[in-house]
Amino acid sequence: TPVKDIVSTLEDYPIVTPFQLKFWEWVSFYYMCSLGDVYRAALPSALKLESETHVFLNPDFEAAEPLTLNEQKVFYLLSPEKASTIAEIEKRAGLTNAIPAIKSLADKGAAYINENIQDAYSAKTLSAVRLTRAYTDDELNDMLSGLGRAKKQQHLLTAFLHLNENNPIVTKKQLLEDADTSPAVLSELVKKKTLEVYDIEISRFDYGETNIESACELNTYQQQAYGEIIKSFEEQDTTLLYGVTSSGKTEIYIRLISDAISKGKQVLYLLPEIALTTQITNRLKTVFGNKLAVYHSRFNDNERAETWNRLLKDGETQVILGARSAIFLPFTSLGLIIVDEEHEGSYKQQDPAPRYHARNAAIVLANMYKAKVLLGTATPSIETYHNALSGRYGLVRLTKRHEDIELPQIAVVNTKELRRKKQMKSVLSPPLIEKVKEALEKKEQIILFQNRRGFASLLECKNCSWTPRCSHCDVCLTYHKGQRMLVCHYCGSTYRVPDVCEECKTPTLEFLGYGTERIEEEVNTLFPEAAVARMDLDTTRGKKSYEHIISRFEDNRTNILIGTQMVSKGLDFGYVSVVGILNADNLLNYPDFRAYEKAFQLITQVSGRAGRKNKQGLVMLQTAHPSHPVINFVKHNDYESFYQTQTEERKLFRYPPFFRLISIVVRGRDEKLTENAASQFTHALRQSFGGRILGPGKPPVSRIQSLYIRNILLKIENNASIQKVRETILFHQSTVFTNTDFKAILLHYDVDPV
Ligand code: ADP
Ligand code: ZN
Ligand code: ZN
Repeated sequence: TPVKDIVSTLEDYPIVTPFQLKFWEWVSFYYMCSLGDVYRAALPSALKLESETHVFLNPDFEAAEPLTLNEQKVFYLLSPEKASTIAEIEKRAGLTNAIPAIKSLADKGAAYINENIQDAYSAKTLSAVRLTRAYTDDELNDMLSGLGRAKKQQHLLTAFLHLNENNPIVTKKQLLEDADTSPAVLSELVKKKTLEVYDIEISRFDYGETNIESACELNTYQQQAYGEIIKSFEEQDTTLLYGVTSSGKTEIYIRLISDAISKGKQVLYLLPEIALTTQITNRLKTVFGNKLAVYHSRFNDNERAETWNRLLKDGETQVILGARSAIFLPFTSLGLIIVDEEHEGSYKQQDPAPRYHARNAAIVLANMYKAKVLLGTATPSIETYHNALSGRYGLVRLTKRHEDIELPQIAVVNTKELRRKKQMKSVLSPPLIEKVKEALEKKEQIILFQNRRGFASLLECKNCSWTPRCSHCDVCLTYHKGQRMLVCHYCGSTYRVPDVCEECKTPTLEFLGYGTERIEEEVNTLFPEAAVARMDLDTTRGKKSYEHIISRFEDNRTNILIGTQMVSKGLDFGYVSVVGILNADNLLNYPDFRAYEKAFQLITQVSGRAGRKNKQGLVMLQTAHPSHPVINFVKHNDYESFYQTQTEERKLFRYPPFFRLISIVVRGRDEKLTENAASQFTHALRQSFGGRILGPGKPPVSRIQSLYIRNILLKIENNASIQKVRETILFHQSTVFTNTDFKAILLHYDVDPV
């Protein structure tokens, strides 16, 4: 193809820096995906000038009439912040033509089409009004009296002059409001060439006035930890700050950020998406003011593009508080990266590629800039703690909570025993009900944690045990009472609730299991006088709904907060005295080598919400296995012993941190063909890797969105050459997948899966 001329450029400066290109190449190399995949994840759509149709959810939509089935399918896929293309919607909803449903949703006001996208690249503008030229006072007076009979115009001009006295910029909106008149009157004055309307560029963010406060005085323990971190950074690039919940890690970060920016360095402060609340944003804003920019997926594309450009162009932005994708921003003088809640699995992107781990990638990014990394957590990941103990990372501990408040007391409730004695009349055990009652009487708050959303986890026939399943995925459906629908948690498809069993035709269907929705109902019955709120994926779809739930709870307007793991993330509440963990067994019975690690972290983190500020809190942990080793470690806050048992097991079974894993995922519409491709690939890989290759196996959910899935697992020694392993895998891929039978087979790699 002939080389074409460049007609014009959009900007007179490059929007991507050489450092970014180098880093993105590393991501594509290490995580075994295409460079295009990385570009797509890194650049906000607004900087990509895509011309495709995009659909957004209107978060404030309330249905006046029930939506049709297809409309529902589309509606529950949409997000208010993230654009969905029509192709994506059709794929996820399992529809061949989603356009009619999208159009009628737009007509009903439930969705927007292409909003935010057209003027994507340009800054946001606002209409303002000014005089066509400079006038003397005399001229102005003449002009006003000249308008003698046009009273409305006279009034408008007077209002303009009045506003303009204190304000160089008078917006059209403000002027019309102040003069209480219509745009037509303004048009008359524009026609007479007295006033003119022009555009001004404004920021998409409301910077407002913030009161800059100085950072808190650090307490003795914080002061000591801070000193140790500084010292550790003299020798190590990466340091772990292992500080119990509520020990005041944030204040230490603030001190380190101030140090870095006073040396003219930029700071990246990473948090898991879900922990990026207004609480933390406001705290940082009061200290860093307009030096702070926030970057995560709840901002739309234009807002993200603006932050990108600000970072590139103005020297003012020095602190970025962001979710995992913030590692792709155009930093110019990065000096420090803070990865808070470093243990969080959500730092790993699952789908689509690049399947990168933001914590690990951040360490590589810092290395390119010769910047330092601080990993912070109350429950270190096994990998990170291993690196700290082996001397690869520095290690600083903070074992006291701020103001010496004690860690919560953990009481284990044996639900098996209570069930045997027929005392479990609800998901809340009698001892938990008692404690909730006492807390309510003392006007203290309660958090109830259940790791499942929806109403019931299953609908089952009492007669023949039939349960409804998703027709696109190999899973049972969850009943959502609010929607009166069965929902697939893997693909989002919704189904009507059957009246009779489809197998034996008897009307004996019953709900099994408890989701947050059902718990909310039970709690309302048990404590009718309490104000109850629920926080899960279903109640936080709107742009502001998450913040509303949190701020109501902060202000003590909600007594009981029920939620999924969302309630465990980085929230700091002052009046929580009781935390109930309704079913710890859900967490322990997960088929994954990290299940215990995740359970330990989640229970400890949820528990950490209890007893902040004024006194020791109480955690009621319900389980049918009260003597389970993990329960014991959590109860005694014994991370060290927990770590010992975990590392022994992992060494024995060849898992991280002793071995590296690469998960190879083969998917296809045809089961036989998928199976066949997976076995051939496994066979080929085994020639090079021998016993390091496991599989092919069926994952617990072996079909999602109509695609059959087979997994192959590669376990390689930590010291193996990444370059060589990669080349070997790709060589076998090219030999096996050149077979045209496998044209329709999808293949991807998940390096260091979590
Ligand atoms: P962590 O992140 O370690 O769980 P936080 O940083 O949220 O802990 O701190 C817990 C609470 O203690 C917060 O309400 C915070 O404002 C308060 N706090 C921490 N350090 C100080 C300090 N030095 N002075 C005053 N308040 C502090
Ligand atoms: Zn039946
Ligand atoms: Zn499904």
